[in-house]
Amino acid sequence: MKDFETSLRSILRADQIKTDPKERDYYGRDWTTYFEIKASAIVFPESTEEIQKLVLWARHNKIPLVPSGGRTGLSGGACATQNELVVSLERMNQILNFNKLDQTLLCQAGTITEQLQKKAHAEGLYFPIDFAARGSSHIGGNVATNAGGIKVVKYGMTRNWIVGLTVVTGRGDIIKINQGLIKNATGPNLLHHFIGSEGIYGFITEVEVKLTQIPPRTQTLLLSVSKLSNIMQCYQAFKENTELHAFEFFSDIALKKVLEHKKKSAPFDPPQPFYIVLEVESPHELAETKIMEVFELCLEQGWIQDGFLAQSSEQTKLFWSYREDISESLAPFSPYKNDISVRISKVPDFLNSVNEVLSRHYPQWTIVWFGHIGDGNLHINILRPDGVTKEDFFKQCQNVDRLLFEVVAKFEGAISAEHGVGLTKKPFLQHSKSVAEIEALKALKTWYDPDYILNPGKVFDL
Ligand SMILES: Cc1cc2nc3c(=O)[nH]c(=O)nc-3n(C[C@H](O)[C@H](O)[C@H](O)COP(=O)(O)OP(=O)(O)OC[C@H]3O[C@@H](n4cnc5c(N)ncnc54)[C@H](O)[C@@H]3O)c2cc1C
Repeated sequence: MKDFETSLRSILRADQIKTDPKERDYYGRDWTTYFEIKASAIVFPESTEEIQKLVLWARHNKIPLVPSGGRTGLSGGACATQNELVVSLERMNQILNFNKLDQTLLCQAGTITEQLQKKAHAEGLYFPIDFAARGSSHIGGNVATNAGGIKVVKYGMTRNWIVGLTVVTGRGDIIKINQGLIKNATGPNLLHHFIGSEGIYGFITEVEVKLTQIPPRTQTLLLSVSKLSNIMQCYQAFKENTELHAFEFFSDIALKKVLEHKKKSAPFDPPQPFYIVLEVESPHELAETKIMEVFELCLEQGWIQDGFLAQSSEQTKLFWSYREDISESLAPFSPYKNDISVRISKVPDFLNSVNEVLSRHYPQWTIVWFGHIGDGNLHINILRPDGVTKEDFFKQCQNVDRLLFEVVAKFEGAISAEHGVGLTKKPFLQHSKSVAEIEALKALKTWYDPDYILNPGKVFDL
C-alpha cells in the first residue's frame, strides 16, 4: 500500500488520495447493496489533464480504475469489487460557461444534476433531465448511464441533450467531441460511443448540454385505477389531447410502503390496485378545459376510478412524493430491483406475462410495480420475505432475473431501460443485444481501453 501511495503521489497531491477503510467502503459502492466492496483507494482528480496522467499511470502499472460519479447508480456500475482504484469526479464540479445565444451550458462532469438545473433556471432556461436522485447524481454519471427520469415522455433521455463531451479514453487520449454543434454530419459521431458507456471506454470529464425554454405552467393529476389495461387507455387519451410532460404509475403496495415510511395518510378511499401521477402543460384556460374534458372522459369510460387535480404547489409536491419516495421507502426491505422496458403498446401484456410467471414460481412473494409507464419503462421490486436471509434471497433472485429476462426477450424489450448494465445485468446482455452487436461493443472496448483498465468486468467480460 505504501509503494502504491508513493507511486500515486508522483501524479497527485496527498489530499487527493484517500485510503481509509471507511472511505474505501463509502466511495467504492453505489446504491446497490449486494456486492462485496473492495476498493484499493480513492483519488480525487481536479482536471481533465490530471485524469489523463492518472490513466497513463494506470496503464503503465496495470491498475484497474473505476470512474465514479454521484454513486446513485442502481446496477453496480460504480462499485469497486476487485481492488480497483476509485476515481471520484466529485471535485470536478465547476460550471465553466453559459452561452446565451447557443443556449448551452458547459460544465465539469462532476457537477451535480440539480446544480445544473438551477443554473439553467437562473439563466431563464431549462434542463429537463430530472429524477429523484437529482440532488446527488453527477451530469457525467447521467451521460455515462444515458439517464432517463420523469420527463422522458416530453423531452427524451440524456442523449438528446448532449452537444459536446470531453473524454479521456483508456488509451490516455483526450478527445473533444462535437463541441456544441447542432449539425455535424462529419461521419459517425463518437458522442454516442460515450453516452451510456458506463465508464468502460473512457472518463467523461466535461459535458456541454443544450437547454430549452422553461415550460409553461403545468398541472399535476393523481388518479386511481382499478385495472392495469386502463392505465394505457388513460395514457392514450392524455397523450392525444394534451401536452404530456410526465406519466408515471405505481401499485397500491408501493403507495402503502410510502405512506408507512413517511407517515402520511392515504389519498384515496377506497384504495385501488394502481395509481397514476401525471403532469400536463396548462398555459391557458383552453388547455385547462381540455385537461378537465380528458379527465371526465377517463372517469366516464371507467378507465379511472377517482382523481385529483393539484390545487397548490404543496399538493403538487405531495402527489409527486407518492411516486418519488418509493425507492427510499422500499430500501429497508432490501428489495430485488429491476428496470426493464418494452414498446408502450406492449406494456399491459408484458406486465401480465411477468406477473403470471412470477406468481407461478414464487406465489408468496410481494411484487411491487412502479415506473415511467409512459415510456414503456417498468421498475419491478420484490420485497425480501421475512425470515429469508439477504444472501439466500439474492441467490433466489438470480433465477428471477432469468425468468424475467426470458419474458423481456420474448417481447423484444430492454433488460435495462435506464439504469445500465453494470454488474447486475452483465450475464443477461444477450437477451437484449445480438451476438454481432456485442462483438462490436467488445471491439470498441479493445480500441479505447487496450490494457483493460477502465471499469473491468462491467457490462461484459472480454
Ligand atoms: C432514488 C433514485 C432514483 C433514481 N431514478 C432514476 C430515474 O428515474 N432515471 C434514471 O435514469 N436513473 C435513476 N436512478 C439511477 C441513477 O441516479 C442514474 O443512473 C444516474 O444517472 C447515475 O449518476 P451518478 O453520477 O450517480 O453515477 P454513478 O452511480 O456514480 O455511476 C454510474 C455509472 O457511470 C459511470 N460513471 C460515472 N461518472 C462517470 C464519468 N464522469 N465518466 C465515465 N463514467 C462515469 C460509473 O463508472 C458507473 O458505471 C435513480 C437512482 C436513485 C438512487
